[in-house]
Parts: sequence; C-alpha cells; structure tokens
Amino acid sequence: MENNNEIKRFHGDWKCSQCGREITTLPFEPKGRSIERVKCVECYRKMKEAEA
Ligand SMILES: [Zn+2]
Repeated sequence: MENNNEIKRFHGDWKCSQCGREITTLPFEPKGRSIERVKCVECYRKMKEAEA
C-alpha cells in the first residue's frame, strides 16, 4: 500500500509572532496579514494545547 499523506512545506523567511524566533519552513504558505501572525512549531503547539 502506498502512503500519499505527503506534507507540503513552504520555505521562506518569517518570524514567530510569539517568541520572535526565525521560521524557515511552514506547512502552509502565509499570505497578507497572516505573515505577521505566523508562529513557530513550539508556539503553535502551545496555542493548540491551550485550545484543547
Ligand atoms: Zn515561537
């Protein structure tokens, strides 16, 4: 069986809106205002945990 769950990654030069860390890859492409709101993996995880 083939696994087609390939995760797309976008490369760029962003900054985490929470901790200011540099972000070079994201699973999505931030556009417009979302560029200012991008979060690194850690901050994103924390946000998700806070929601759950
Ligand atoms: Zn961060």
